[in-house]
Amino acid sequence: MTAEANTELLRKLPAVHRLLDLPACQHLMETYSRDWVSEAAAHSVSAVRKEILSGTRSNEVTEEQLLQQIEQYLRNRFQPNFRRVINATGVVLHTNLGRAPLAESALEAINRTALGYSNLELNLATGERGSRYDHVEELICRLTGAESALVVNNNAAAVLLVLREMAKGRKVIVSRGQLVEIGGSFRVSEVMKESGAQLVEVGTTNKTHERDYENAIDENTAMIMRAHTSNFRIVGFTYQPELSDLVSLAHQHGIPVYEDLGSGSLIDLRKFGIGDEPTVDASIKAGVDIVSFSGDKLLGGTQAGIIAGRAEYIKKIKKNQLTRALRVDKLTLAALEATLLLYLDEERALREIPTLYLLTRKREELYREAQKLAGGLREVFQEKAVVEVVEGMSQVGGGSLPDEDLATYLVAVKTTPFSLNALEHALRHVDLPVMTTIRKEALLFDVRTIFPREIDECINSVREACKRLG
Ligand SMILES: *Cc1c(COP(=O)(O)O)cnc(C)c1O
Repeated sequence: MTAEANTELLRKLPAVHRLLDLPACQHLMETYSRDWVSEAAAHSVSAVRKEILSGTRSNEVTEEQLLQQIEQYLRNRFQPNFRRVINATGVVLHTNLGRAPLAESALEAINRTALGYSNLELNLATGERGSRYDHVEELICRLTGAESALVVNNNAAAVLLVLREMAKGRKVIVSRGQLVEIGGSFRVSEVMKESGAQLVEVGTTNKTHERDYENAIDENTAMIMRAHTSNFRIVGFTYQPELSDLVSLAHQHGIPVYEDLGSGSLIDLRKFGIGDEPTVDASIKAGVDIVSFSGDKLLGGTQAGIIAGRAEYIKKIKKNQLTRALRVDKLTLAALEATLLLYLDEERALREIPTLYLLTRKREELYREAQKLAGGLREVFQEKAVVEVVEGMSQVGGGSLPDEDLATYLVAVKTTPFSLNALEHALRHVDLPVMTTIRKEALLFDVRTIFPREIDECINSVREACKRLG
């Protein structure tokens, strides 16, 4: 490219103010402010100028191309960074993808509450000040058999609060096999330190006996804590006391038992052949004094930590200064109450709570959906890729039921015109991103976590990704 040709190209570049006068730009100003359209135009012209000067562009830029760039710039700038994605990973409670999708009735509750005022801390019956915890307390008690309950920001907060109120400056006995680390650097031992309680580890990694607990109890013991080993399993030569035996032992010594249930299922999923997760009410029935569990794991609601158990302890916990700092937001409460209401009718819960629906989807349904998705993807790729429906395994995720695999159907895309990595990458960069996995030379779409309403959207996203890859 000669210097004169370059000069000619630069001379032909439209001035920003001329672009702004074009009807297309005027039209954009109905959506975006004049300043933003002007910034976008300046940015687009300057990008082309750089291309010319660096020698990467040898042809004239058309007005149309510039207008397209201006619009793209504005669209990118104003697109929220935090968006919806399609989960094709098959991990139902995917912490990085927002864990539990909410039920319709929970959304309605959020809307209702968010758009106006509410009786968040007002007792409508008396007209006096009320407590935000009252709205869900009775419901939680009904569903778990507990005497009393409160809700905080998440289960990590619940653990911290329970330990702080019930064991600060005193000893908490925990089996060595239960000193778990959950994702996001939550360790039982660290939270214990943070709470001011003193951890007393007993037993070994695989076996802890009643006598190990008993030998560790002294006058400075505040409680025995049981933590659910959410994300791993110790198998083989193992022993942990039965919960009811542990409770009897603790109560003989006049100390309470606290169980961090992690997921805390409200219905028995074993009926559906899923896992061996204890239900919350089973713990309460076994005599556990305080339990805590997440609102957005198997329960299928919003992020929250539910603390339930004996009234005397809950009463004290509610008064702890830390409770105010870990306070749950009104939108969370609205969604949680709506979700819990669905549990009053188990059939309804299974139908309407997305997490439960995704976990219990029938194989025939998954097969049908996989065929539908495969058909759409074959159309997108034409003859240029092999698209197959294969059997596979989905995961519960969220640290729940780590060794539980759920049979599913996957759509496997092989030998595409692009590398699988490039395709996976492009799928994260389209307007509606699709999260997939690559395994054994195939890009996999697990239909279990793709809602039926999302199949067409998923196909469109793949089409867009292919277009981007050219
Ligand atoms: C997930 C989990 C937590 C943390 O719960 P969040 O609601 O994510 O804060 C604490 N303890 C156990 C055993 C868990 O599984």
